[in-house]
Amino acid sequence: MSKKFDVIVIGGGPAGMMAAITAAVNGSQVALFEKNKRLGKKLLMTGGGRCNVTNNRPVDDLIVHIPGNGRFLYSTFSQFDNQDVMNFFSERGVALKEEDHGRIFPVSDKSATIVNTLKEELEKLSVELHFKEPVEKIISDGASIQGVRTSEGDYSAKSVVVTTGGITYPSTGSQGDGYRFAKSVGHHVTPLYPTESPIFLTDEFVSAKLLQGLSLQDVNLSVIDEKNKTIASHEMDLLFTHFGISGPAALRCSSFVNQLLRTQETVTLKLDCFPQKTAADLMEEIRERSSASTKQLKNALAGFLPERLLLFFLEKSGISEQSYAQTSKEQLEKFVSYCKNWSLTANKTFGLEKSFVTGGGVELKEINPKELASKKIPDLFFAGEVLDVNGYTGGYNITTAFCTGYVAGIHAAYHAFA
Ligand code: FAD
Repeated sequence: MSKKFDVIVIGGGPAGMMAAITAAVNGSQVALFEKNKRLGKKLLMTGGGRCNVTNNRPVDDLIVHIPGNGRFLYSTFSQFDNQDVMNFFSERGVALKEEDHGRIFPVSDKSATIVNTLKEELEKLSVELHFKEPVEKIISDGASIQGVRTSEGDYSAKSVVVTTGGITYPSTGSQGDGYRFAKSVGHHVTPLYPTESPIFLTDEFVSAKLLQGLSLQDVNLSVIDEKNKTIASHEMDLLFTHFGISGPAALRCSSFVNQLLRTQETVTLKLDCFPQKTAADLMEEIRERSSASTKQLKNALAGFLPERLLLFFLEKSGISEQSYAQTSKEQLEKFVSYCKNWSLTANKTFGLEKSFVTGGGVELKEINPKELASKKIPDLFFAGEVLDVNGYTGGYNITTAFCTGYVAGIHAAYHAFA
């Protein structure tokens, strides 16, 4: 083998950079291999190019916002959590700020601030950075790891940390190599599926482009299974597009849609445009706004809903050309039911390549949650999106990557000296 290291880290995303830093801080000689010519290509894209470093919620809340096996992370977060992520950057002179929904960003509003800080730290700790040198395989005899092979040759290591990310946005370098590495040494990978993805609808109003471009604030979108049970519900903003729906509420529901689509042709979504009001409240509000008026409801109710949606619901209820006095209670109830309980039909989401986060990954039953070491090969560690863990956008995946990276890095270093 051409060169010997204590710890080799495969992948220079948030998980890999943090793993390499932590292993080096704990006295290891570390090499990090990144297939791109620079670090953190995907991280640079997050938060609209501003880097959504983490989220400032209590740990229990973080777990709730990581619907894909968040509970596996209790042990990780007990060793390094979102507050530690914030301290890490603050201690290195990065000013952070909190925005809506607890999202944390650098005050500079530039992702480069975060990636440069990590790079400087790696260089300070003399981590050997190998750019444009993808790892091709893990060298193992089946019981332990000997090192890795790249196009440049073989490198030996006492511990190897796999932080190759998921398989979404493959142009960032995350192309699923880690799943191949895991399988090559006997690990299982659970089925991969798109999460945090816009949703396609089959409803006629979509092909008719009636609502395209319309955005709704703080509405409630729910995913309903075939037994009519609500399996996920999110109150956030929503955007109608030329193919269906996008925006935070749709992204959060997408993983549940994809899980149901494994056994169903279509999935029912329910949209409540007034989650803070009851149907009775709405009936009363409509009466107050329009009962004294002879105007048609579409004019009397101006401002009750965005104009295009108001007209759409009134037309669906058959009352767009009527005044309040001409409208029966049943017709008004139908209109209110559209406002509160509008049924939409989803048939797919964007594919993996265009979704933000990969669902599924390295089987967690085969990973020790305390050390993030393989239960099959004790000198092999996994961190970040390559694991079968997925969170909502808003900093939850990045927090997972930094924190699991820290834990894998520290235990990889301990192992190297054991
Ligand atoms: P990655 O960041 O994917 O890094 C893996 C690295 O490994 C890559 O640099 C890759 O080039 C390298 N690599 C892969 N294979 C090899 C190999 N064989 N040899 C060497 N190197 C290799 N999450 C949030 O929490 N909040 C957000 O707001 C958010 N926004 C997002 C926006 C976009 C557009 C996208 C695409 C994702 C977003 N995410 C967000 C998800 C988040 O970026 C990822 O979950 C996170 O980057 C995963 O970190 P990671 O270190 O595990 O993997």
